Amino acid sequence: MKTFIKYLIYFFIFILIIFILPAICTKKRNSKDFKQEKVIKQDEENIVNESKYDYSKYGKIKLLHKKSGQIEEIPIDEYLYGVVSAEMPANYEIEALKAQAVAARTYTIYQISNNKGKHRDADICDESICCQAWISKEERMQKWSEEEKEANWKKVVLAVNSTAGQIITYNNKPINAFFHSNSGGITETVANVWNGSDLPYLKSVETSGEEEYSQYSSEVKIFKTDLIDKIKKEYPDVKINFDEEECIKILDYTESGRVKTVKFGNTEIAGTKVRSIMGLKSTNFSIKINGEDIIFSVKGYGHGVGMSQTGADSMAKQGKSYQDIIKHFYTSVEITTI
Ligand SMILES: [Zn+2]
Repeated sequence: MKTFIKYLIYFFIFILIIFILPAICTKKRNSKDFKQEKVIKQDEENIVNESKYDYSKYGKIKLLHKKSGQIEEIPIDEYLYGVVSAEMPANYEIEALKAQAVAARTYTIYQISNNKGKHRDADICDESICCQAWISKEERMQKWSEEEKEANWKKVVLAVNSTAGQIITYNNKPINAFFHSNSGGITETVANVWNGSDLPYLKSVETSGEEEYSQYSSEVKIFKTDLIDKIKKEYPDVKINFDEEECIKILDYTESGRVKTVKFGNTEIAGTKVRSIMGLKSTNFSIKINGEDIIFSVKGYGHGVGMSQTGADSMAKQGKSYQDIIKHFYTSVEITTI
């Protein structure tokens, strides 16, 4: 009988070690928080891995590789992974990346619908100065460091897939979703950049926090003689007498405070033209003469129309969603699923 009790005790100890102890130890890991976190991770994983969205009408696009002249047929969202990762740093907030994905998707669909023939047999090209930048996954991964490349790519894919099918519309039509790097605190209307008429959804709006980014301020310093040489290439009759006061003078500004016209001696030149001749980052600049140097102090980076990318990141940091960001930079628009 004594032996039986002894074995019974051994049996209970055995049960305790095998079943009850592990259950107690893992109880903490099964807490609500852990479950929640796991669900979110699983959701993200599903979004990253989910099959491509079926844009019945836009399924695949024809992408022109400018350098090689080759045209590649590529599913639109796969193309957008390459655009988002070329156009915006992957360390920006996820909501900013989502806003970029929706803006880039809208821009693409607008190009397909409105600019037929711009690239003959292709819908869009891979250059930022012509259409929007694009980079292949291979090339992109090579540029990122070993530790961050997988997480970065996943983040870009998540931004595109979690907004699949969404575009920005005004009056039920896709908008011309311009975007740029840094607005210098205020965006520009489209007519002030490319002449022509303004678009109701591209109004000048202010953003805070853009001064935190390196793209916010820059400077171009040039010798007086080099300045004249540069201008002469486009305006051969230009004459500047540096002894005269106000020999270089900004004559007027746009409503957003960007330079509209500059007088260089006997020649008046548009701010946008000065930007391209001098290689300035934007038309939001001031000019100072310092001895033999002319100094252009520049605010912001890019044409300033539509969504500012650093502005988007700054808004996301303040807790705004991608919908908030889009509706801030594009006036009176809707986000529509196609
Ligand atoms: Zn193009």
